[in-house]
Amino acid sequence: MISLKDVQDARERIGKIAHVTPVLRSTQLTNICGNQIFLKSEHLQKTGSFKIRGASNKVIHSIEKGAKFVTTASSGNHGQAVSYIANKYGVPATIVVPENVSKCKVNAIQAYNGKVEICGTTSSERLPRAQEIAEQEKGVYIPPYDDPFVMAGQGTLGLEILEQLENVDVIIVPIGGGGLISGILTAVKETNPKIKVIGVEPELANDTFLSLQNKKITAIPATKTIADGLRTSQPGDLTFPVLMRYLDDIVLVSEDEIRQAFRFIMERTKQLIEPSSATTIAAAMFNKLNIQGKNIVSVISGGNVDIHEVQQLIVNTVE
Ligand SMILES: *Cc1c(COP(=O)(O)O)cnc(C)c1O
Repeated sequence: MISLKDVQDARERIGKIAHVTPVLRSTQLTNICGNQIFLKSEHLQKTGSFKIRGASNKVIHSIEKGAKFVTTASSGNHGQAVSYIANKYGVPATIVVPENVSKCKVNAIQAYNGKVEICGTTSSERLPRAQEIAEQEKGVYIPPYDDPFVMAGQGTLGLEILEQLENVDVIIVPIGGGGLISGILTAVKETNPKIKVIGVEPELANDTFLSLQNKKITAIPATKTIADGLRTSQPGDLTFPVLMRYLDDIVLVSEDEIRQAFRFIMERTKQLIEPSSATTIAAAMFNKLNIQGKNIVSVISGGNVDIHEVQQLIVNTVE
C-alpha cells in the first residue's frame, strides 16, 4: 500500500506541472443540500482533469529511471494527460484508442503530439497492445489507476484540500478504477482520520459498491453509464485494499440524477463539468449522504465533455 510519504513525494515531483486548482462555492447548492458545499475544481486543471497528477508522477519517475518512450491504452482523460506530460519532457508517447473513439478525443491527444494507434473495441484488446508497444520500444506502460505512482499522484489533490479549507467534515469522490479515491484516502486519513471520505458510483457501474459488499474484487459486465470516466468494470488490485481499509461509505446515483446535477451546475454556477464529476453533486443534491449542516467538499474530477454531447445531457431533465 502507498503511504502519506509517497503522496508528499509526488507533490514534490509534480509541483511545477499541476495547478493548485480553486475551491468554488455555490450558495444555491448549499441551500438545496442543507450542507455547506465546496467544489474542488479539477475541471480547471491542466488537460481538464485530475489525471495529470498521477500521469505526471508516473511518467516523470519513469523518465528519471531512463524511460525514452511511454504508452497507455486510455482514450479519455488519462490518455490526454500522458501525452501532455510526455510532450513536455520531450519523450514520444503512443496512445492506443478504440475504433469508435470520438474525433474530439483524438484531436486532444494529437494536440499534445501524442501518436494515436487504433485497436479493437474493448480494453482487453487495447491493453495488451499498449504493453506490447512498450516492450518493443523499450518504453513504459502507464496504467490509468492501478499503480503506486499514479495513486500517489492523485493523492496530491487530497493534500491540497486539507491546505485550502479548514474544518472539512466530508469529502465526496467519484470512483472508476479507484486511483483517485485511494490517493485521497491515503493523504486524508493519514493526516486527519476524523474527516469522512465517501465514494460515489453510478448505479449502472456499481463494481466497487459490489466489491465492498462482497469484501472481494467483483467485476460487472460492460456498462454504458453517461459518466464515461467511471465505466471501469472492476476496482484495481492495488486500489481496492486501500478502500477496504479507509473508505467510510459508498453511495450510488442514477443516470437521471447525474443529468440533473450536470444541468444544475451548468445553469447556476456556469461551470462546464463532465458527467463523471456530476455524480458527486448528485450525491449531495439528492441527499444520498444522510448528512446535514456539515462542510462537504465535492471533488469535481474533470470537465472534458464533447461540446456536441452537452445538449444530449440536458434534454429530458426535470425543471
Ligand atoms: C478517471 C476519472 C475518474 C475516476 O478515477 P479513478 O482513478 O479511475 O477512480 C473520475 N472522473 C474523471 C473526470 C476521470 O477522468
